[in-house]
Amino acid sequence: MEGNPDYPDANPIDVKFTSIPPVALDGTTADDDGVTECILYAGMKDAIFAQPEFPKPVPRPRRQVYRLQEVEGAGLGLVATRKIKAGEIIFAERPLVVSKAAWMGGRKIDDPAYKEKAAWTDSNDLLKFVVNRMDPKRRKAFKALANCHREEGCPPLLGIIRTNGISITEELRMLFPTMPDSPWGAFTAIGEITGRMNHSCCANTFINFGTVSFAIDVTASRDIGVGEEITRSYCDALAPQAVRQASLNPWAFVCSCRACRDPVESDIRRGEIRAVKSTMAKMEDTEQMVNQWIGDDTLPDDYLEEKALKLVGLMEEEGLESLQDYLFCKQMLGFVYAARGFHDKAMKYLREFISEGIPPELRSFISPAATYLIIEESARNAVRVYWKKRRLRGPGSRKT
Ligand SMILES: [Zn+2]
Repeated sequence: MEGNPDYPDANPIDVKFTSIPPVALDGTTADDDGVTECILYAGMKDAIFAQPEFPKPVPRPRRQVYRLQEVEGAGLGLVATRKIKAGEIIFAERPLVVSKAAWMGGRKIDDPAYKEKAAWTDSNDLLKFVVNRMDPKRRKAFKALANCHREEGCPPLLGIIRTNGISITEELRMLFPTMPDSPWGAFTAIGEITGRMNHSCCANTFINFGTVSFAIDVTASRDIGVGEEITRSYCDALAPQAVRQASLNPWAFVCSCRACRDPVESDIRRGEIRAVKSTMAKMEDTEQMVNQWIGDDTLPDDYLEEKALKLVGLMEEEGLESLQDYLFCKQMLGFVYAARGFHDKAMKYLREFISEGIPPELRSFISPAATYLIIEESARNAVRVYWKKRRLRGPGSRKT
């Protein structure tokens, strides 16, 4: 049913409460990985359940690699108890709650300030219902999470959602393309462990949401040492320090990561990253960028290589390996070196790219030996594709 675009959530029949995976009448579920209580638009539940193999078990790390402990100036946080290698899964969990950051009820209020307060009240009422559906252990875990929005007058349950959620809007939109584009916030997942991860502008993890396992998984974006805190970023990591700190104000802490401690040099490097990126139209469409370069002999041989190497170097210096662009650059370098006839360099970058991209859902079920074979085979296949194009764009191919 079409909603009023100003009040897309106005019709209560469009909002559904759902347990994922479903709970049978006798209280049993498809697996023991926990039940997520959700507030969704009608139709989303069917799209989630219709996925082949749904629900897949939540990926399991091979070993426990962190503990929850007091972190100076940041309350509780996750700290590595062992060395964690880049790409290694740290933990995965089925969220406690999935909901939009706010829902708007049927009231029609034009003043934006009052409209927001009304949405908060309505959303909190929906959340009360959700929290009552949770099993006692998960309800306790949810209520124990921080709420940084108390002083704005945001009600407590919604405050927890706004403080701890990770956005999963894009993942859900893939399953449900007709999802209304509501002004009232993104879909978020609130995880018991994810909610304890503190912020860093040099975060050392990738956070992913798998819709088939319906789980958040967290992997290391670079090697993490024993005793190092395991972090994620709450803000746009490429923004200058002052902008980042302003956007962190709702969480009521001053970031003391290494980029914030020495903002002058760091702001210059992050500015350079933004500048180089702005000369690369669509970073995520690596194939298209590389093919365009191969086909255009007005562009120098090192056109993409120079930009991608520069970005990789700057991101490593700034501890920004958790940005997607870091991996896209490695993929691009793999393709570019293959197309230029540098086999070993191409394999090196493609191995790194593929290794980081193996979903934990797969990695936790296959042996390290099988993982190695998948990486080698995929890297070789990718090199082969661009190796064939090297006559167009390889050593000695330049038209003079
Ligand atoms: Zn910082």
